Amino acid sequence: MYDIVIVGLGIAGYTAAIYCARYKLKVLLVGAEAGGMGNTAAEVGNWPGEIEIRGPDLMEKFKNHAVSFGDLVTFKISTVKDAKKTETGFELMLEGDEKVTGKTIIFATGSNKRHLGVKGETEFSGKGVTYCATCDAFFYKNKTVAVIGGGDSAVEGAAIAAQVAAKVYLVHRKKDFRAEPYWVDKVKEKKNVEFVLERNLVEVIGDKKVTGMKLDQPWNGQEIIPVDGVFIEIGSNPAVELPKKLGCSLDDIGFLKVDEAQRTNIAGVFGAGDLTSASNHFAQFTTAAGEATVAANSAFNYLQSGR
Ligand code: NDP
Repeated sequence: MYDIVIVGLGIAGYTAAIYCARYKLKVLLVGAEAGGMGNTAAEVGNWPGEIEIRGPDLMEKFKNHAVSFGDLVTFKISTVKDAKKTETGFELMLEGDEKVTGKTIIFATGSNKRHLGVKGETEFSGKGVTYCATCDAFFYKNKTVAVIGGGDSAVEGAAIAAQVAAKVYLVHRKKDFRAEPYWVDKVKEKKNVEFVLERNLVEVIGDKKVTGMKLDQPWNGQEIIPVDGVFIEIGSNPAVELPKKLGCSLDDIGFLKVDEAQRTNIAGVFGAGDLTSASNHFAQFTTAAGEATVAANSAFNYLQSGR
């Protein structure tokens, strides 16, 4: 039995593993994909100590650190399918009916990209419709693409797409952006980005692949704007399925409810990162690392004293 099973291989999961290993806890660090959402950041400029670093490079550094503790940290790529409470702790079901047990759990499962739910979106998913502009932009060299959304993911995505695409439409339902001004300014500098504001995408048009998009009102007289790709970047939903199975409470907008010590309502179960109600829901690398630090400390205290 592990002292702690950490589910999730993003910033929060890796940070929790580093702290738990330094507490000499026996850790299983498990998740479906190494790097999590951090892998999708083309450029990270707000991780203290790194003026600018590619997301995948930063995640590789985190992983190397997390697995540097010898036998204390077991690293495993696998999807966790189920979780239940037992008399001595918790049992998790992994792929291939593999069972693992832990005295405590930290959920660091992050979030899943939101879908818009418009006509043509599902039909052309993977055929021009994608949910990660920074990951997929490079397949659209010299093409025309649209990025939908007004947060950091959309605006950073538009800046990255503009480096390769011939033309980028940044479509946002409001006049103002919630993205960091740093990224908004960066996009404004790009001559091949057109801001399409106060418009909603209502339909993705295509034949075998995407050929255009329809907005709720015409843009520059066009009913249908020709595009080769549509990157939908309208935020994410917290990945709370597993904690829910254990009976963990959610907050009123669906995030894993944790207290100031990152404890859930289930003794021995903790949460850290984008899925939790902590840090004012401000999903950043720095807040994920901070929450994971506190969660690891709380798990250590719980194992020592049962509290
Ligand atoms: P956000 O939730 O921050 O933004 C989502 C955007 O999509 C908003 O502009 C929102 O509009 C818009 N939107 C939501 N639903 C719809 C809809 N149905 N139709 C049209 N537009 C819609 O998500 P992000 O993925 O951008 O960011 C998530 C978190 O990750 C944030 O905390 C962000 O700071 C962080 N992040 C940080 C990065 C970095 O530091 N480098 C990079 C990427 C993300 P509205 O504004 O009107 O609500």
